[in-house]
Amino acid sequence: MNLNAFHDIGKRSEMAEPPSYKRVYARIDQVEIGEFGDGPGGVPPLPGSGPVLYLDSIDANWFDDNRRRPGGGADADTRFFMDARLCVIEARADNFDRFKVLDRDDLEEADESEWLEIVFETAAEGAALVYRNLFSVPTPINLSSVRRVTGSIKQRLDKELSLDDVSDATQEDIEDALAKAGQIDHAVVYDVGQGSSAGLCNSVGRVVVYCDFGGGVLRHTTTFPPGLNLFCMCASAPIILSHWDWDHWSSASRDTRAYNCKWIAPRQKMGPVHRTAAFQMASGAGLLIWPHGLASISSGQITIDKCTRTGTSRNDTGLAVTVAKSGNPSAPRLLFTGDADYSFIPPAQAAIASATADFIAIVAPHHGGKMRTRSAPLRPKAGHARVAYSYGISNMYRHGVANCQARLDHVKANWNDRHVTVCAVPPEFARQTEDRGPASKLGHIRLGWSAVTSAVTPQCVGTTNCDLEAEQI
Ligand SMILES: [Zn+2]
Ligand SMILES: [Zn+2]
Repeated sequence: MNLNAFHDIGKRSEMAEPPSYKRVYARIDQVEIGEFGDGPGGVPPLPGSGPVLYLDSIDANWFDDNRRRPGGGADADTRFFMDARLCVIEARADNFDRFKVLDRDDLEEADESEWLEIVFETAAEGAALVYRNLFSVPTPINLSSVRRVTGSIKQRLDKELSLDDVSDATQEDIEDALAKAGQIDHAVVYDVGQGSSAGLCNSVGRVVVYCDFGGGVLRHTTTFPPGLNLFCMCASAPIILSHWDWDHWSSASRDTRAYNCKWIAPRQKMGPVHRTAAFQMASGAGLLIWPHGLASISSGQITIDKCTRTGTSRNDTGLAVTVAKSGNPSAPRLLFTGDADYSFIPPAQAAIASATADFIAIVAPHHGGKMRTRSAPLRPKAGHARVAYSYGISNMYRHGVANCQARLDHVKANWNDRHVTVCAVPPEFARQTEDRGPASKLGHIRLGWSAVTSAVTPQCVGTTNCDLEAEQI
């Protein structure tokens, strides 16, 4: 599988050199608001104050000179997406104030912003950073000008870097992809550092469906565990992508066999880095885009629900997954939230509204980041009920830290947790990927309908084993 140099982890050293270009077209990809820590180290802390912005960017001169013709053939597309010069800019919101291009009151809703043209200069004491590879160390920069892109360039950016030329999948396409899963015995939340990935597994521990395939990137690259090199590809599992966030698909660059899996993903607005990843997904077994207007799809034990928020938040408008117990669909299910708030996931919302304990295991929304609505579904009685927090050690956003709001809100719904002072005595129901096991040095967490007493080891086909043994149970 050929990858664009931005995505190719093997090029992270050469891409750590400063860029030769100084002008990019960029779209705000992500806005982080809150109290920040210093991060896991290896990358200088970001100076300034206020929210942290990530801009998904493409070299403007390259884009001006290289026109993509959507529908112009696979070869032309391959050249365009493999050669595109991509980068990500990380900067505090106050860097943009003097250019008067952002509405500071509305920043939280700025995913999928308008296109900006940014000119920057490299500087030893830069106020912002540019990453030329998803896993490389960045170069410090200062922004010299920022303006909105209009006219024909904006039209080209919208057309050539969107999913508009990828048509919706049919409901049958998605049902067919899920139907091959067979019986699901349990699930495992993988320790991927600051990011998210889980596997739905059969009785011998082989992954039959992935829910996200992400991991630590950019500033958080070093949170990814060194011991995780091989995922399980025994069953050619399809990958359900909850939403277009780097930390939810980036491990496809670490185990590139994932690009040969079938991906099921929501249609969302995006920038050039995501669009290039989408091209790489589509070049393998295919990219199935969720059909417009469809609320949910069920196949066997799996249900995918379209999240219900209106507007532009990618976190709350993607796909959430629930998994029913084999042979007993009314038993409490497993819930995979991605980064979506419970209030936008219909089965979670219903469980909260009726105060029923519908889930035996939950992956907490947004890595244990703040929840918009402060309630979680109630925990059922069983001792093996689990809430899993997937985040990287010392992450800059302070996701999952002791006594954080998300943990407190889950404790209120009886998910007792030793990282919350008021319930630091057993039994506890919370697990976190940062707790790495003594044998594997990995923090994978097993979730299921029954209790187990020892680590869960996948039995992969052939002689090469994956690195997905779950020591946390
Ligand atoms: Zn996320
Ligand atoms: Zn395997």
